[in-house]
Amino acid sequence: MRACKNCRFIIHTNDKTCPKCGGELSEKFSGMVIVLDPEKSEVAKVVGVNATGSYAIKVK
Ligand SMILES: [Zn+2]
Repeated sequence: MRACKNCRFIIHTNDKTCPKCGGELSEKFSGMVIVLDPEKSEVAKVVGVNATGSYAIKVK
C-alpha cells in the first residue's frame, strides 16, 4: 500500500501516481483512516479530506 504525498489518499493498486490528484506516492506513511461519509465524518474534518476513501494520517 502506498499513500499520496499530496492528498494522502491510500492506493491499493500498482499505479505510479495518485488517481485523484496525480501526486507522487510514498510507501512511508503512518496511520490510516477510512472515510465513508465525508459530509458527516469527524475524522474527515480532522484529516482534512472531502471524498470517500482510505487516507493516511501522515505521509513522509
Ligand atoms: Zn493525491
